[in-house]
Amino acid sequence: MKKKVLVTGGAGFLGSHLCERLLNEGNEVICLDNYFTGQKENLIHLLNNPYFELVRHDITMPFYIEVDEIYNLACPASPIHYQYNPIKTVKTSVMGSVNMLGLAKRIKAKILQASTSEVYGDPEVHPQTEDYWGHVNPVGRRSCYDEGKRCAETLFVDYHLQNKVRIKIVRIFNTYGPRMHPNDGRVVSNFIVQALKNEDITVYGDGSQTRSFQYCDDLIEGMIRMMATGDDFTGPVNIGNPGEFTILELAEKVIQLTGSRAKIIFKPLPQDDPMQRRPDISLAKEKLDWEPVVNLDEGLEKTIDYFKKIVRV
Ligand code: NAD
Ligand code: UDP
Ligand code: UDP
Repeated sequence: MKKKVLVTGGAGFLGSHLCERLLNEGNEVICLDNYFTGQKENLIHLLNNPYFELVRHDITMPFYIEVDEIYNLACPASPIHYQYNPIKTVKTSVMGSVNMLGLAKRIKAKILQASTSEVYGDPEVHPQTEDYWGHVNPVGRRSCYDEGKRCAETLFVDYHLQNKVRIKIVRIFNTYGPRMHPNDGRVVSNFIVQALKNEDITVYGDGSQTRSFQYCDDLIEGMIRMMATGDDFTGPVNIGNPGEFTILELAEKVIQLTGSRAKIIFKPLPQDDPMQRRPDISLAKEKLDWEPVVNLDEGLEKTIDYFKKIVRV
């Protein structure tokens, strides 16, 4: 059945893939974005579609509309961007969530929150399951993002308990793919751009910290499946690829796949940088019948092809 769907942060990396997928499935899509880290170029191919509407709006301000479903993705995701104006980052997660939850409550829409593996902080439990409460610094450089997202989860749960809002929470682990911003500072985009330009590959720390990298299409599939679950399942549910790699391994893989002459150099490790991260996805398998299908080499190749088109070398 055709639905009317609101996507906040729809001009960003993940939001643009989600808008595209929802339109391809025959839905009507309204995208809200303030273009802080997103860009119209990510959606330019959708602008002629009469079922797509792009609205410049900041979700820290109220917004009135009638829709069936809301995906709340608005929030800068890369450390350099969320640390640029940390107060605004907290406002986006907290005031933005209040507004979108108030909207969902009034119109009785289902609402999904794009939460993050950062709610686990620098985890002491490995791999991370949803019942782990996390190990988070409340007063560090990452806190605006981590605590903002944690408070957003709290708001979602309380709107559900107090106002019976139909909520869904997904905890997204590191996700990469085409349309990542070339300058957003995240590791996959940094390494690919550096490799294509034959510039030094900047590994922070000694590169022994780990991450689990998920290709964007796998995440979008997981989010759509989560939205489709019955009202009794609210999450939170981990959505990520359990394949775990050190950052040094990633650097070597990117050099190999691009055939680059770039050399690896080491830079200081940023404050509170988590040492290891890997999702336990048993709950997603059980409740969503979902698991990722794109492996790291395959996903990196698609991402490298994208960056070859947009990066001047
Ligand atoms: P992104 O920066 O590309 O997209 C975020 C979008 O939100 C941008 O288009 C930005 O302009 C918009 N935005 C920011 N503040 C806004 C505001 N106040 N009002 C309206 N729009 C606003 O990042 P992304 O990687 O696409 O991430 C999307 C969501 O997924 C974020 O909520 C992020 O926290 C979450 N997430 C992403 C990852 C990942 O690895 N990519 C991991 C965990 C969680
Ligand atoms: N809100 C909105 N759109 C709506 C309904 C509410 O943006 O359609 C915002 C509004 O700013 C409100 C907030 O959501 O302050 C929280 O709404 P709620 O009903 O929970 O609380 P209120 O502040 O109205 O008592
Ligand atoms: N990182 C790196 N070089 C870079 C960018 C990031 O070594 O040019 C490291 C960073 O310190 C972290 C990991 O890669 O350990 C993932 O960083 P990213 O910002 O992509 O995501 P997050 O730390 O939020 O998981």
